[in-house]
Amino acid sequence: MHTDRRIFMAGGAASLLGACTPLPRLQDLGPKHQGTWIEPFKANRRNLMKVTVCTRPFRPAGPRLEVERFGSKTVVHNYGHGGSGWSLSWGCAAETASLARSQGHTDIAVIGAGVIGLTTAIRLVETGAVVTVYASEFPSETRSARASGVWSPSSRIALADRVPQGFADRWERWARYSHAKHLEMLGLADDPIEFVTQYNLRGRSTPRVRANREYLHLDRRLRGLNPAWGDPDPERDPFSAKLRRKGPAMIFNVARYFDRLVRQFEAKGGKMVRRTFANRTQLLSLPQPIIVNCMGYGANAIWDAEDLAPVRGQINWLLPQPSARYALYYDGVSAVSRRDGVMVQYLGPNEDWGYGDPGETPDPTETDRALETLRRAYE
Ligand SMILES: Cc1cc2nc3c(=O)[nH]c(=O)nc-3n(C[C@H](O)[C@H](O)[C@H](O)COP(=O)(O)OP(=O)(O)OC[C@H]3O[C@@H](n4cnc5c(N)ncnc54)[C@H](O)[C@@H]3O)c2cc1C
Repeated sequence: MHTDRRIFMAGGAASLLGACTPLPRLQDLGPKHQGTWIEPFKANRRNLMKVTVCTRPFRPAGPRLEVERFGSKTVVHNYGHGGSGWSLSWGCAAETASLARSQGHTDIAVIGAGVIGLTTAIRLVETGAVVTVYASEFPSETRSARASGVWSPSSRIALADRVPQGFADRWERWARYSHAKHLEMLGLADDPIEFVTQYNLRGRSTPRVRANREYLHLDRRLRGLNPAWGDPDPERDPFSAKLRRKGPAMIFNVARYFDRLVRQFEAKGGKMVRRTFANRTQLLSLPQPIIVNCMGYGANAIWDAEDLAPVRGQINWLLPQPSARYALYYDGVSAVSRRDGVMVQYLGPNEDWGYGDPGETPDPTETDRALETLRRAYE
């Protein structure tokens, strides 16, 4: 059915139909068939590679980038990036690195090898510091490796009534700095960053419910940073009348991106050591005078970071589908075709979805719901 339609739409297949057979006009195909055909994601369990669950390190007051002293040691914090860690990493890394370097030492320990730890470590070695990353999990094992991989700089970044004064300006600096760094990585041989077209579709089988918390949304401050989204054209665009908005979305091919960060760090002389710290005393006995805390949700246990709340997120990974390179949002489900797989995620009725839940066991009902909804997007 879909294959036939592609032959019609591709135009160049006229010879298959016979020279005298006129191609049908779009308006004759009926509403369901209007618009360019698009290859559907293969949203079924046969194509399901894995299901991952990850905890967002959500800090109602926003990420903590701050210096704290413990006797002869100085700790520089960089944790609590909620659902925006990949997007804001470079801006936060730059600010943390300058806080750490202003303490007057070159020997620095970075705790954590997620996206925050690695980008911070890279910024530090670039300033001439001698950097050792200590972590119980290395990059591909971290929670960062289980992220959706989209530019989402204000996703669950803070609660509107909990941020300190001046937070929005600081956030904007992180976001703009990070965005520029990401653009530098476009077109590289291993494609750590790409733009794909995102289609946001109409239709909701379950009503949207107001969240119990007021999350801070700052995206308006970045208007114009990415190329503009256009008005849909039901005759030409896929999904015809169902299409509400479409536009370019920046995505992170997380596996390749992480690989690049590790290579970059090691090529600049950085060292990585696998080590788990059971408590603060163990951490403060490290030989380095400066310790940079990039422990994500792990900061909770060591630094009494009771200001961190876990926010669970489950991702269903379909086999990579190189012939369907786009992103889609429909009825609470987001799907993004990355080089390392098609990520499909049910986002719930509002941003409270997963709030307070530290559980990291996959829920098969959520998987079925996400895949079933995604199939309906093409009906
Ligand atoms: C489902 C989901 C989707 C997401 N999607 C996106 C997205 O599309 N875009 C985006 O920008 N962000 C996204 N995020 C958010 C992003 O993934 C996080 O903000 C980011 O990964 C946090 O990175 P981190 O380096 O602080 O923490 P982590 O990746 O958790 O790394 C923490 C590091 O600290 C180490 N560590 C912790 N405790 C100890 C200890 N006691 N001893 C030794 N080492 C320790 C760990 O081993 C690890 O190396 C998503 C998050 C989730 C859950």
